[in-house]
Amino acid sequence: MIITIDGPAGAGKSSVARRLAQRLGFYFLDTGAMYRAVALAALRRGIDVSQPDRLAALVDKLDIRVDGDRVLLDGEDVGQAIRTSEVTALVSAVADHPRVRQRLVQLQRQAAEGRNIVTEGRDQGTVVFPDADLKIFLTASPEVRARRRQAELLARGESIELDELLQQIKERDRRDQNRQVGPLRKADDAVEINTDSLSLDEVVDRIEALVHEKERSIGHLDT
Ligand code: C5P
Repeated sequence: MIITIDGPAGAGKSSVARRLAQRLGFYFLDTGAMYRAVALAALRRGIDVSQPDRLAALVDKLDIRVDGDRVLLDGEDVGQAIRTSEVTALVSAVADHPRVRQRLVQLQRQAAEGRNIVTEGRDQGTVVFPDADLKIFLTASPEVRARRRQAELLARGESIELDELLQQIKERDRRDQNRQVGPLRKADDAVEINTDSLSLDEVVDRIEALVHEKERSIGHLDT
């Protein structure tokens, strides 16, 4: 079974997908972490991300493995390093490049082979897994998302003004929604859930109920 969770930055995708996967005993795939790993590698090598050929050459030779919350870049655990503001500021520009997307989409499909999976990102239900069993589109207002990001960063010891985060989130939304390949978009058959006034467990409960409904309908078709 493939469950996709897409939505804008800060809508709660990672926390929801991780907990849902835990509850169901499914594999969890954070595809944003893959784009972040490429951005980190570009940053470390001083590669100008506006140069498609250099980025394409880079992504082809990187070894990126995402296993639950562990993110390995050429064997190094970069789980923390990919979450800095520097990487966050660069990642959307990296994700704009079709050849970067092509390579990461290939890795994402490989990761799902033969597994039950909860995968989260921007294009999982639209491009990567158009035939997914259940598609969720998580949303929240920009203000709520900025506050969540601020709390997350504070927990890691980074303090950033709310206004600045709000601007960054709006800019990332604009970029993610307007890219030529794999833009952030709700799939026609996705269920939209606004998480503004819902707790993490309430969101996961709703999705879990949809999963069980889906399982029953699949079981019904099988018999
Ligand atoms: O979800 P997260 O904030 O870690 O994603 C970082 C960035 O990676 C997003 O802003 C987006 O530009 C890109 N991304 C993407 N497609 C995905 C997942 C993430 O373009 N499936």
